[in-house]
Amino acid sequence: MASHLPLTLPPFYEFEADATWRCIEFISDLHLSEAQPRTTAAWVEYLEHSQADAIYILGDLFEVWIGDDARQPGRFETQAAVVLANAASQRAMGFMAGNRDFLVGSALLGACGMVGLPDPTLLSAWGERVLLTHGDALCLDDLAYQDFRRLVRSEAWRRDFLAQPLAVRESQARQMRDASEAGKRRVPAANWADVDTASAVAWMHATASRTMVHGHTHRPGSEVLAPGYTRHVLSDWDCDGAPPRAQVLRLTRDGFTRIDLVP
Ligand code: MN
Repeated sequence: MASHLPLTLPPFYEFEADATWRCIEFISDLHLSEAQPRTTAAWVEYLEHSQADAIYILGDLFEVWIGDDARQPGRFETQAAVVLANAASQRAMGFMAGNRDFLVGSALLGACGMVGLPDPTLLSAWGERVLLTHGDALCLDDLAYQDFRRLVRSEAWRRDFLAQPLAVRESQARQMRDASEAGKRRVPAANWADVDTASAVAWMHATASRTMVHGHTHRPGSEVLAPGYTRHVLSDWDCDGAPPRAQVLRLTRDGFTRIDLVP
């Protein structure tokens, strides 16, 4: 079916969990915005109560991020940054960009005390090597999206976009999002792009890893992709929709478990 070659592993970042840690948690695809007050509240409560030694956000924390300078008085971005800074004062916090919030920059990360995680990142914890990625780079069947991704991830596009006034950026971001949502509506959910299996396995093989954790597809579950190679797909969060959902993937010395925050 797929007519493309597996995607070669890009340069990746590697780090090791602190030897004293006992629990690491992963979340992604919360798509936070002012229009999602219950999801935002669930996120704030989760960060306040989590006992994890480290929380890694694997992309699309925000529905959209139009630049770190959007942190103006009274704006949602400012409130979210305060929440992140509080969370990072209690434990290690890492942030990987998704396709919605790829414009999060070093100013926000620095102000909040979060570590930026390149995509992909290899995490070693308790003898296990876990490859972390948002997942969109591996959705190779979606050729139009991959073209779009190459464009908006270029330094020139980023510079030009960020040079515009906030109001202009906001309206452009809305147009891009509307186009993306309209595109999704034309395709049944079951046919939305998924991570390319051969590429995911190739990335794990190249990093001597047996486990991948990714988000993006909003299809939570754990699956053996090839003998010895497993992926754990994170859940999106939506506490404003029905049924509400908010899930955390937890890694301890004993392995992975999923924690549903919505009963
Ligand atoms: Mn995504």
